[in-house]
Amino acid sequence: MRDLITVHDQASPASPDTAALLDGATALGSAVVRPGRLPAKDVLSVHDGTVLAALGAATDAAHRSAALAVTAAQLVGFESRVAYAPCHAPGNRTSRTKLGDPRSLNNAALAADALSKRGPVAVIDIDLHHGHGTQDIFRDRRTVFVGSVHGEPTTGTTARTVALGEAAGDREYLAALTEIVRQASRFRPSAVVVSLGLDTAATDLTGRVRVTRSGLAAAGGLIAALGCPTAVIQECAGAGNASPHQLGAFLTGLLVG
Ligand SMILES: [Zn+2]
Repeated sequence: MRDLITVHDQASPASPDTAALLDGATALGSAVVRPGRLPAKDVLSVHDGTVLAALGAATDAAHRSAALAVTAAQLVGFESRVAYAPCHAPGNRTSRTKLGDPRSLNNAALAADALSKRGPVAVIDIDLHHGHGTQDIFRDRRTVFVGSVHGEPTTGTTARTVALGEAAGDREYLAALTEIVRQASRFRPSAVVVSLGLDTAATDLTGRVRVTRSGLAAAGGLIAALGCPTAVIQECAGAGNASPHQLGAFLTGLLVG
């Protein structure tokens, strides 16, 4: 089994940021090309028809990203320990019935739904923006744990959600993630889905959370300690030029442990 596979499709990536991330990830491991769209029944196990209808002009890009995420889920544990899906836009704010901004399907939820057919799944969302869509989708699903560390908004801490305060750095971010991983560990997952936001990085324009590259590597190491096949789903790509390095730091931490 390989350590890392990056999944991409034949079509050009939708943004320069995504293209740079794809290059950064493929430098660390193998890449596979997989096709386009998911069967409608797979999407409808996570979203209802109103979400699909509301995608409008974003339909093709949204379905392509969803296919990347689900393919990553299908590969982990069989062909690789870690699979990375460079999705074109974040989807963690799209719930079962309501489309988020930007208009995307919930890629991480679709990956978790696919993996949940094998056993319990832990979704760990470390995007700057609260992944409330993912939490909504799995609110009543006992086989899927969803934990979140976010900095936007700066309020809303609950049992499985840590809202970081203004100008949080590595220390606060890693302390919060340690707690979420501890809870995930007690859930005894058979697989992990990471909603990876690079908009928590110190270089990001939002400046809300200031995580360094070594902080991102440490985050990968914390999640690696769960010892599970892991699908990494790209949420916000973060600020352009630095993002491939930050992604590399996270994935290296995840691979090395
Ligand atoms: Zn974000």
